[in-house]
Order: sequence, then structure tokens, then C-alpha cells
Amino acid sequence: VLQLSEAVNRVQPSATIAVSNKAMELKRQGIDVIGLGAGEPDFDTPDNIKEAAIKAIQDGKTKYTPVDGIPELKEAICAKFERENGLSYKPSQVNVSPGGKPVIFNAFLATLNPGDEVIIPAPYWVSYPEMAIICGATPVSVACGPNQNYKLTPDALEAAITPNTKWLILNSPSNPTGAAYSKAELRGLADVLLRHPHVWVLTDDMYEHLVYDGFEYYTIAQVEPGLYDRTLTMNGVSKAYAMTGWRIGYAAGPEKLIGAMRKVMSQSTSNPCSIAQWASVEALNGPQDFLKERAEAFKQRRDLVVAGLNAAEGLHCPTPEGAFYVYPSCAGAIGKTTPKGVLIENDEIFATELLQDANVAVVFGAAFGLSPAFRVSYATSTDVLEEAVKRIQGFCASLK
Ligand code: PLP
Repeated sequence: VLQLSEAVNRVQPSATIAVSNKAMELKRQGIDVIGLGAGEPDFDTPDNIKEAAIKAIQDGKTKYTPVDGIPELKEAICAKFERENGLSYKPSQVNVSPGGKPVIFNAFLATLNPGDEVIIPAPYWVSYPEMAIICGATPVSVACGPNQNYKLTPDALEAAITPNTKWLILNSPSNPTGAAYSKAELRGLADVLLRHPHVWVLTDDMYEHLVYDGFEYYTIAQVEPGLYDRTLTMNGVSKAYAMTGWRIGYAAGPEKLIGAMRKVMSQSTSNPCSIAQWASVEALNGPQDFLKERAEAFKQRRDLVVAGLNAAEGLHCPTPEGAFYVYPSCAGAIGKTTPKGVLIENDEIFATELLQDANVAVVFGAAFGLSPAFRVSYATSTDVLEEAVKRIQGFCASLK
């Protein structure tokens, strides 16, 4: 009998993938399911990026590359950080990995020991705690509820820091809530961090370009240069450039950390796909105008979904600054009963019954560490979103 490793036994399977599988299963049975579980833009990768990839193939750029990225991409990344974030990095401070997820995993593997703590504001992207757990470290979840717009406060951060804290994870705009930190809010967190020089910051800026209503985006090393030497500023092309399948993520930080991440990669994945790297050079150096157009489309969808969910009985949905998610609280539905007689005891049952009764797939809040709530991804057409909102309202009205 196969004995699995302790590391894998410590880890939970991904709830977001489980929901997609369940929705797909119902679809296969011919049921008209609306999936609001997706974690990717519905837009296509822009043509100039696809063409750069085709050219890379034709030019024979199809061999091994330096383990943590080609110099051309590292230079494009340095230029991006300078242009968009006012941050100066040298190519030797840059890591390119096969996706944003491996960037974080490589950083954790390179730095975490058993007993180390990773502070993770909740609700959080499902993979942060599990990646810390694989590495033998302890995730420390800090609840950040809807009445604080799902954001970490300086006091809560201060209270969570111990001598064992290794990393603080920031994710702005956030998956699953869409909440993004203003410059002033980052300032408040930075002031706490300055008092605790042993704490490193991993800022996951994946959704940087998806912000609305003129929100001004800042990343923490830009707000407080005193944190530059202990911050890993992470980003990627997956969400901004609709390139989830290409698998390119990147980060910049102190050379010692970047070197250790390279060592991890050199004995595991080796380099990210050469063709995808050339496509990413074009993504970062090419025209950027479409980012604003797409953000405008997402903003309209956000407004539609937030208004529709707030009109549903028992739901309360804050208006987030960015990403393509909203995170309504379903506290008002807990304790009620469906027409079939199922008691809604928690958000997992809420989401299960919503899928069964109204054929709308969402991800329950417990998966993201803050209940009772659920995540809605609005990366789909307005027609579909209008129908989804109607079904959710109908489901909520049917609860007694
Ligand atoms: N970070 C956040 C907050 C995400 O939502 C995701 C994807 O869902 C990632 C990182 C991973 O991105 P990638 O697909 O590039 O690995």
C-alpha cells in the first residue's frame, strides 16, 4: 500500500477546483449551470502577445533558458516595476517562475522552517496557507470581516506578529474579496512593519491592473522604501494579460532571496516555458491601452453584481476596489430552510443548495477562511451575470 508523505497529508485539496468539478458534472448531465467559480478573465490573450509566441517558435527559441528567466524578460520586468510602481530593481533581483503560484511556493521553500509563522489576512487565496503547511510552517490567519471591508488593520497586524513571524502576505486587490489597499492603508501597515524588522513581506500584486473608479494602485515597497530590503514584490501576466494558461509569474526582491529561489528551481522545475517567456516580454513591453478598456468592462460587471446581490434577501455585498471577485456575506441566510427542507447551517450548505436549487456555482467562504460568505467571480458576460443574479435572488427569497 502506498504510504503518502506527511507533507501531502497535511494539505487540503483545492475547494475552488472541487466546485468547478461539481459544476462541470452537472453540466454533463445536461443541467443549465451558471459557473461563477472561475479564477480567470473570460477575455482572450491579445493578438500581439500570441504573435510574439509564434515568432519565438519560428525563431527556434525552443530550448532551455536560464533557470529563473531570460535576460530580455527580466529587463522588461525591471522596466515594468520602474514605470508602474516607481521601484528600481536590477535583473539579478528578479525571479521568473512557471506562474505566480510557483513564485510564492519557491519563496516559501527557500525561506520557511518548521515553527515559522506566516501571517495571512482572511479571507485569503486558498493556496497561501496550504503552501506554508507543505513547507512545515504555521499559517496564522487574521480575520478581516466585511465591516472592515475585508482589509487588515494596523492593530490586527501588530497583534498577530510574534518572534516566529517570518512572512506577512498581502494581496491587493484580493482574491477572493476584490478589496485593495489605498496608499494610506499601506502606510498604516508599513508603520507597524518598521517596528518589527524580522518580518518579511510577500505582496501578491497579481490583480494590480484590475482596479476601478480611479483607484490609485500602490504596492508596499513603493509606499515605504524602508521595507524594500525585506519585501518580495510579486506579480504575473496571468490575470492582467489574460494569460493564465501560459504559466508565467515573476517577483523582485533582495538578491539573496532571489538566488535561493533560483536554487530551488534549478533542482525542480528548471526554467519556465521559453515560448511563454517571449510572449511575456511582448505583454510587458507592448501596448498597454487594452488594460484600461478591459478594466472598464469589469467595472460595469462589478456594479451589476454588487447591486444585484445587495438586492437579494439576507445578503450583504461590499463594493470592492478591484479584481473580478465579490465576497457577499450570507449571514442573513444562515439558520433558514430551503423549500426542500434543508437547513442552511453554514456557507458550504448555502453554496451546495444554491447549486442544486438554482444551478449557480459559487465557492463557499469557509474555503477562504472567513464565513459565512461566498465568492462570486464576475469574469463572464453581463447577460450571464444578469441571469445569475436573478437566480440567486430567487433562491434567497425562497428561504424561510
Ligand atoms: N495569486 C492570486 C491572488 C491568485 O488569485 C492567483 C490565481 O488564481 C495566483 C496568485 C496564481 O497565479 P498563476 O495562475 O500565475 O499561478
